[in-house]
Amino acid sequence: MVYPSGRHFLQIPGPTNIPDRVLRALAAPTIDHRGPGFSRLAREVLEGLGRVFGCSGPVVVFPSSGTGAWEAALVNTLSPGDRVLMFETGHFAALWCGVARRLGLEVEFVPGDWRHGVDPGEVRRRLAADWRGETKAVAVVHNETSTGCTSRIAEIREAMDEAGHPALFLVDVISSLGSIEYRHDEWGVDVAVGCSQKGLLLPPGLGINALSERALEASRGARLPRSYWDWRPMLESNEEGYFPYTPPTNLLFGLREALAMLFEEGLENVLARHRRHAEATRRAVRAWGLEVLCLEPAEYSASLTAVLMPEGHDADLLRRLVLEGFNMSLGAGLGKLAGRVFRIGHLGDLNDLMLVGALGGVEMGLSVAGVPHSKGGVMAAMEYLVETAPVAGRRAVAAGG
Ligand SMILES: *Cc1c(COP(=O)(O)O)cnc(C)c1O
Repeated sequence: MVYPSGRHFLQIPGPTNIPDRVLRALAAPTIDHRGPGFSRLAREVLEGLGRVFGCSGPVVVFPSSGTGAWEAALVNTLSPGDRVLMFETGHFAALWCGVARRLGLEVEFVPGDWRHGVDPGEVRRRLAADWRGETKAVAVVHNETSTGCTSRIAEIREAMDEAGHPALFLVDVISSLGSIEYRHDEWGVDVAVGCSQKGLLLPPGLGINALSERALEASRGARLPRSYWDWRPMLESNEEGYFPYTPPTNLLFGLREALAMLFEEGLENVLARHRRHAEATRRAVRAWGLEVLCLEPAEYSASLTAVLMPEGHDADLLRRLVLEGFNMSLGAGLGKLAGRVFRIGHLGDLNDLMLVGALGGVEMGLSVAGVPHSKGGVMAAMEYLVETAPVAGRRAVAAGG
């Protein structure tokens, strides 16, 4: 193995690479979590998270993985035996379904091909057929990180409204928050599930729920057993800027810095940057003659691209050669896609040169691994990046300025 000089390229779709500013913030000495400094910190980050979610209701932060926040969304709103409508968009949807079933919920899991998001028409038909109102919640993964397909949350909300169905709307925004447009209040989502290690530029360790008024109301009658994940003690302590137990103080230092960075760049600009990098990546994939897994352009993910390997070639061998040869980690195929796809993460703190470097690593890896492909993927990406460069230089030159 080549000595891994230089900085590792962490191009998996989460955890993402952590900006130096955030690393330095994380390294600050831990403070008293019952003191006034902590209270200011907690209020500031909870308010900032609300802005990122587009949520005017409470936001709850647990020291946990995203999986914990999935569980919190379910146990706070539902009762044993409640029916939940879920869709098999990919590996993460299947995992969330597993959590729900183990908690004693009755999941109607609509099969999918792992190459599309949720069909809003299917949501409308299923809910319209449920005239007894047995379905208590619809749970959707916004950005299916295993496939690179998004689901159209606003359209799914419309479908629920058209069916006139009162089910709660739960959405996993773990790999879309801070990289793909998400509007909690406006889209009528009741519980959004987020976590720290994807678009929020942090290490793993924070599980997040953003709530609506209806979600709070549902939590008062919900009967699934809950203790650690209970929103109530958390919301009560958060009122004063505290936690009901020892909080992940240093991750909150990091979160304060990460939020400052997102707001300095401007949330709209952050989203536009992700869309631009995603398009550059897809152009590279097509120039290589490879196939993007997602079949629906309206559902292309801005945070990652899953690439199908040509028949008879192993994605995990490619990933291993890229790691050993070029010090870059690519995302593995998950679940039934194992070995058949690799995933290029292009979310988080990324710029054009980092993306070009990452795509260069893939293109060289394809050669080393003997995968049949055309050259010129990096070139195609660079051409697009130049055409759409947010710098004024090109236009100024063209205008003689
Ligand atoms: C990463 C991810 C998760 C799982 O988060 P963990 O922190 O590993 O529990 C869930 N859903 C989606 C969409 C993800 O991308």
